[in-house]
Amino acid sequence: MTAAFILAINLFIAGIFAVAFGVVAATNRTARGAGWLAGGYALGIVDVVLELVLPEQADPTPVAVGIFLVFLIGQTFCLIGVARHYRVLPPWIAIAAISTLSVLAIPLIFTLDYGSPLRSLAYQLPYFAMHSLIVFTIFRSRWRQALDVLLMVLTAITALLYLVRPLIVWIVGTANAPQGYMATTYAAISQSVGAVTLIAMALVLLLVIMRDTAAEMNIRSETDSLSGALNRRGFDAHAERLLAQAQRTGAPLALVTADLDHFKAINDGFGHAAGDMVIAHFASLLRGSAAAAAIVSRLGGEEFAVLMPDATIAEGRRYAETVRTALAAAPLSGLGVDQRVTASFGVAQAMPGDTLFDLSRRADAALYRAKASGRNQVSAALADLSPTPTPQRGLA
Ligand code: GH3
Ligand code: MG
Ligand code: MG
Repeated sequence: MTAAFILAINLFIAGIFAVAFGVVAATNRTARGAGWLAGGYALGIVDVVLELVLPEQADPTPVAVGIFLVFLIGQTFCLIGVARHYRVLPPWIAIAAISTLSVLAIPLIFTLDYGSPLRSLAYQLPYFAMHSLIVFTIFRSRWRQALDVLLMVLTAITALLYLVRPLIVWIVGTANAPQGYMATTYAAISQSVGAVTLIAMALVLLLVIMRDTAAEMNIRSETDSLSGALNRRGFDAHAERLLAQAQRTGAPLALVTADLDHFKAINDGFGHAAGDMVIAHFASLLRGSAAAAAIVSRLGGEEFAVLMPDATIAEGRRYAETVRTALAAAPLSGLGVDQRVTASFGVAQAMPGDTLFDLSRRADAALYRAKASGRNQVSAALADLSPTPTPQRGLA
């Protein structure tokens, strides 16, 4: 009776989490594994229902085999969901091996003496294996934040508890036949343990999904969808951090600003879509030539900024020159054969005490000079090129 009561609670728990994961999957396109997890927990409901009708059966074997397999499939769904969420390939070969061995073991499991610890061991081994695979999958993803570690530990404990169940059978015994299972102390213990691990794992999984969804939304809010570069909001957030870091360590920091030349003419001559394509192409050139630590941002329209940590003004110039040459050299499909697009660049280097505004202003002034001197060129901020001003004497 107690076990049936806990089983009924498990029914609700599985139902609540099936709905929760289902809602997450339906409302959040980036939560890739949630649909599988919803399926896994929904199969948990089927399992509990089968468990409840089992005592009514004259021949318990078909339903008992059903319970065994449905639970295994539910766990497989959870494994696939976890793998999808952590962006690793589900371990298909291991899943196929465990499933095949489990099916092949059915005649053995269901002919062994029902109450024997050996049968219990054979019955629980696939579950142990499936949960171990979940731990391994998270481990392989190389995510190591507190929640991921917690999920791994919880799943590992859940896996080990499947191995402990035969021990409990050995100590407290169980029924002689499947129909008697529900009345046993073993069933009460096993179902309680199941309820606790079910809740704990589902809650941590939901937290992991929420954490990663929030992180992804943050990235998206800082990214420009046309160019794939950071937008101004993203630039400001990351640039402030890089500037503070450079001020602290004394490392050089260069800023390159760039603006496409006569872009209005491209829009007017070839259409807005062609203009968009040019913007995207220019962004990919800026990104492709930049070091991994540099941040490339589309500040608006056809204006870009590239902040280069550990780079002097000379390196900033070299970079800008590389991009300028590459852009001017390549004919763009969509524009006429002889049509070339060019851009102008301004370069500045952070000076002690500079704010981001100061640095941007000098780079923009340099860019303005590049435009004024005929475009398709790189200009460096004058103040940054002159030797460090020495304190003037005799002015007071
Ligand atoms: P300059 O050489 O002096 O920079 O000349 P310009 O024609 O490029 O002048 P300006 O920078 O003022 O022009 C920017 C133009 O870019 C104006 C606007 O119509 C266009 N633009 C802004 N955002 C977009 C966009 O997202 N897509 C497209 N296709 N055009 C854009
Ligand atoms: Mg322009
Ligand atoms: Mg402009």
